[in-house]
Amino acid sequence: MLDFSLTPEQEDLRQKARRFALEEVLPVAAYYDEIDQTPLPVIQKAYDEGIINIDIPKEYGGQGLGLLEATLVVEEIAAACAGTATSLFDNSLGMEPVLLSDNEALKKRYLPKVAHEFKKICFATSEPTMGSDVSGLRCRAVEDGDDYILNGTKYWITNGGLADYASVFATIDPKSKHEGICAFLVEMDWPGVRVGRTIPKMGQRCSNTVGINFKDVRVPKANMLAPPGKGFVLAMKTFARTRPTIGAFGVGAARSAMEHAIDYAKRRKAFGMPISGFQAIQFKLAEMYQKVETARLLTWQSAWESDQGKDANISASVAKMYATETALEVANEALQVFAGYGYTKMFPVEKILRDVRLLRIYEGTSEVQRAVLAGYLLNAYKPVMPALEDLPLHRELDPLGDKADQKAWRCRMCGHVHYGDEAPEECPYCFFPQSAFKEVKIKEA
Ligand SMILES: Cc1cc2nc3c(=O)[nH]c(=O)nc-3n(C[C@H](O)[C@H](O)[C@H](O)COP(=O)(O)OP(=O)(O)OC[C@H]3O[C@@H](n4cnc5c(N)ncnc54)[C@H](O)[C@@H]3O)c2cc1C
Repeated sequence: MLDFSLTPEQEDLRQKARRFALEEVLPVAAYYDEIDQTPLPVIQKAYDEGIINIDIPKEYGGQGLGLLEATLVVEEIAAACAGTATSLFDNSLGMEPVLLSDNEALKKRYLPKVAHEFKKICFATSEPTMGSDVSGLRCRAVEDGDDYILNGTKYWITNGGLADYASVFATIDPKSKHEGICAFLVEMDWPGVRVGRTIPKMGQRCSNTVGINFKDVRVPKANMLAPPGKGFVLAMKTFARTRPTIGAFGVGAARSAMEHAIDYAKRRKAFGMPISGFQAIQFKLAEMYQKVETARLLTWQSAWESDQGKDANISASVAKMYATETALEVANEALQVFAGYGYTKMFPVEKILRDVRLLRIYEGTSEVQRAVLAGYLLNAYKPVMPALEDLPLHRELDPLGDKADQKAWRCRMCGHVHYGDEAPEECPYCFFPQSAFKEVKIKEA
């Protein structure tokens, strides 16, 4: 059964997030963007009102909601400010390796603190020298009795300057690539952890991004999220769960850009009429809507698959890629509808455009998503169509197949079909030799 309707509880949650976005996030978004700071009072309020951390299971003190519910909330907050949304929902990214880990004692120790004590977790795979190539990370973890000693630097870490804990990916040996990668939950006030200056950014200035340095940081084995050899898979499983959320960022931001463009197009006059009367503008709006709706469906589908316990890796890549590219296209076209005013800081579209530019970069660039999808298509995808060389023919419907008693042979190079007891010595079209021909299956009437 296929059903796209939301339950009353999901619809209530969406309305709650929408109200929070309109009343708490939207009024302050431009201000915090301008001063390049995280809106800490908004984050506190989001925590107090149960807008964040909704995915912590009930057994650890959370609301126990699914990824689909998370996408509903994220869309609304990102519609008001994608930067604030990044800051708010970074906890889910940081928490995901903990939720996916087998370390039950660690979950019991830390997750209730996130749920009840407003503790924040950031996520750290990236480093100054790598981002896409997780297997190439260099942060070292050296075993020492009951501990591991961490040395290295993580870079681009969202909320790194605010977080209490970090899910840190490291390696026991950089040369062993995937096999060496492990992960730990690190407390940010442990000796040897240092946070760098806030990295100045083009957009998403309402989210904090820093480098974190680890110098001889002693991490108890009890804080291990994944032993060496299991860390890479944990990182990939994390992304499969969090990429639909990034899709929801794209949907929300694109929806706002579209709505601002509709409003402006109805008011702005040119050549004696509202610009919404021009087909060129109408078609832009129509395409924006089509992309937003498609992006939402893909996002919901991947979140739903994940909630059903299915392997959502591929649908998450599709959703992340499509929705984030949609956001950039829609924001860019919305700015075109505003034209000169769109290019100013007086209207919100330029901020949306700056904010959504990041969506195609973090949690796997668009190029990485294409690589994931191409790998799937070329290796694991199961086609319905037979191979080109095995395409069947129907004797009665084939205009050339009038010699009912003869065999048919297809040239595997150019597709030419030859009728006769034997394949021809060479193809009359591409001149490939007889060996290029394969007998064709014929469906009799
Ligand atoms: C504001 C911000 C916040 C971030 N937050 C976090 C965070 O909280 N935690 C964290 O760990 N990281 C975070 N990141 C890092 C982010 O995930 C990386 O920037 C991203 O994965 C890309 O890595 P890179 O910047 O090193 O680019 P690179 O990996 O160096 O890639 C450079 C270019 O090469 C392309 N490329 C690389 N490999 C391939 C390939 N195999 N095929 C085709 N093209 C390829 C990329 O698509 C890109 O265009 C954040 C980044 C930013 C900018």
